[in-house]
Amino acid sequence: MSEGMRVQPDLAFIEYLKGAGGDTLKKCFQCATCSVVCPLASDEKPFPRKEMIWAQWGLKDKLIADPDVLLCHQCGDCTAYCPRGAKPGDVLGAIRAYAYTHYGFPKGLANLCASGKNLPILIAIPALIIGVVWLLSGGMHLPEAVREAGFSHFFGEGMVGPLTKNVFLIDLIFLPTVAFSIFAAYRGVSAMWKAMAANLGGTPSYRPSVVQFVQEFLWPAVVEILQHKRFNECGANQNRVKGHLPVLLSFIGLFIVTNYAFVVKDIIGYFVEGLHGPIAFWNPVKILANVSAIALIVGIGILWSNRKQMEAEGRAAATFYDWFLIWEIMAVGITGFGAEIFRLLGLALPAYLLYYCHLVAVMMLFLYMPYTKFAHMVYRTFAMAFERYRESAFVKPVGE
Ligand code: SF4
Ligand code: SF4
Repeated sequence: MSEGMRVQPDLAFIEYLKGAGGDTLKKCFQCATCSVVCPLASDEKPFPRKEMIWAQWGLKDKLIADPDVLLCHQCGDCTAYCPRGAKPGDVLGAIRAYAYTHYGFPKGLANLCASGKNLPILIAIPALIIGVVWLLSGGMHLPEAVREAGFSHFFGEGMVGPLTKNVFLIDLIFLPTVAFSIFAAYRGVSAMWKAMAANLGGTPSYRPSVVQFVQEFLWPAVVEILQHKRFNECGANQNRVKGHLPVLLSFIGLFIVTNYAFVVKDIIGYFVEGLHGPIAFWNPVKILANVSAIALIVGIGILWSNRKQMEAEGRAAATFYDWFLIWEIMAVGITGFGAEIFRLLGLALPAYLLYYCHLVAVMMLFLYMPYTKFAHMVYRTFAMAFERYRESAFVKPVGE
């Protein structure tokens, strides 16, 4: 540090890190073992040793605009080998959680999602919205033949314009939720990108067009994530890829199923009669839905037990931020699959109650996506794009 340079620690930030899984922060004595074992560190970038000293100094603005912090995938290798038990993996996890709340939009909702104490409110918001719509829809009674009717009359019968009332009300709840979530994530990622670009210092040589940005930075990052390349580089926590991959693939499967249902039932169903109602059990789309639901439960079950094991071995701290997404995904998988099983058994009451819980769980997943660990997927994708950007000719003149 140059003479006269002052470090202005953000004491509140240091306190936050201590409370959010980074309580071992002060033990670090800068030996750099973590940087040697971290599969993401290079000779030029001694990661995460420098982040540990920044965290001790409370340099919040530097840390939350550091793409390397977001690139860490919490494999726990550094924590496993740290001779001081400083748990750098947990410290970085706590910084990420802080960053997602800091960049989160709107602030009130981001703050609400930051603490486990608010869990009852987080459940109550979608439970109330869906409960009120269910009550007002007139659909709050059990069908005689739930096997055949499925959940297509959950929100009552009849038509609203070209759509069945059920589809109309589901769209009314979920389309604005998804649109809100995408907008909030966009605001958060934009704020993060600006902060990271400002942290680089200097002025970029020239700005990439949107097409260049997607082709050169964003798309390669998405491909790398889908291939799970960096996960495979982890030593201490290889099992995680076994849980992470089925969860990722199941989300892709369920995304396809949801879009199929939207296009076929909402759009084509308007012109062609008989397309509403449950999809037949042996329809390939239904098979994809069921296989994805099983993959989701199995994948999240592996991540659950893996996380428990890491905590038992002292390689990770138990934080609300880490567990909230696991609980949410587990709730989506179990309620969705359970509702389907009870429907097939012809048991209308548990099927309908579980379906209601399923809608609540799905709404929670979408509504809180920009602030929970799910956001990590989005922020990390853009951090990986930024990693390419900062090394590109847009920032560094050719030959530098
Ligand atoms: S976190 Fe641990 S391994 Fe890394 S520099 Fe500090 S003491 Fe060394
Ligand atoms: S948790 Fe894994 S990826 Fe993250 S800093 Fe530690 S060793 Fe590197």
